[in-house]
Amino acid sequence: MPQRIICKGCGAVLYKGIELRSPSEVIAQFGGHCPNCGKKLEFSISSVEIKAVQQ
Ligand SMILES: [Zn+2]
Repeated sequence: MPQRIICKGCGAVLYKGIELRSPSEVIAQFGGHCPNCGKKLEFSISSVEIKAVQQ
């Protein structure tokens, strides 16, 4: 099932796809900050939200 990783600060979708990825991996891709709101993303699931995409 596809997943989404969302910035809890602004709701921007940081990752969306079928492949399951860890939040820390995705956060590292953005250099530790949300590309949309600039919020510092901790390397934990507490600063992002993971949701299953139902389509
Ligand atoms: Zn954000």
